[in-house]
Amino acid sequence: MTLFMATNNPHKKREMAKLLKDHTLFIPSDKNIDFTAEENGKSFYENSFLKAKTLWDIVQHPVLADDSGLCIDALDGIPGIYSARYAGMHYPQGTRDNHSTSQSEQNNMLIEHTTHILHKKYGKKLPTMSKKERMALRSCYYVCAMTLYLEKDSFYCVQKVFKGQLVEHINEQRGSNGFGYDPIVYLPEYDKTVAEIPEAEKNTISHRAKATNKILTLI
Ligand code: IMP
Repeated sequence: MTLFMATNNPHKKREMAKLLKDHTLFIPSDKNIDFTAEENGKSFYENSFLKAKTLWDIVQHPVLADDSGLCIDALDGIPGIYSARYAGMHYPQGTRDNHSTSQSEQNNMLIEHTTHILHKKYGKKLPTMSKKERMALRSCYYVCAMTLYLEKDSFYCVQKVFKGQLVEHINEQRGSNGFGYDPIVYLPEYDKTVAEIPEAEKNTISHRAKATNKILTLI
């Protein structure tokens, strides 16, 4: 099947092409299509739907769109749909002047933000807890929503999660695989961060892999 992917990110196209290897993927720039979608939904699946529909309206051909991010349980899901823009506890949805924040700053600030909230909630109890107990309070999950928009008003949305724990200190970040928040997301069952897992393995267990596999069965 030939599919358009609603992104301008060639890295995402490459990654998805590996997962959808029996299908042909185009991104708008491959066909000189000018594509920008308003991502003003309140959830991952709404944003994936908005991107898919916007591109389908242009190409009138099957489209796949995704939206993803990291949610920290102790922060009630922050940074969530604002993961790419997160700029610390005072600007969890990004700064108003759109000043871009580096990934390493984001990682640092997210750890501090989580620690701050846990200290407020558990105070003096925290130092009496074991590392395992403290890490359980730092549970988090990646989300990936995907919309497969096939024809007018006919579409599927799927959403999958990938669970981990946010490390306690920036000096506990590990690994150079993956991207984004991967060096600070710890997987207790592997005793590794996501960035220490080989890419091929992440591609069997991640939120994106699980959502893509479901899309494959739908295709
Ligand atoms: P988007 O879906 O491309 O808008 O990605 C949103 C943001 O979520 C990215 O910029 C990353 O910060 C974060 N994110 C999504 N998936 C992953 C992942 O697999 N690893 C690390 N960070 C991720």
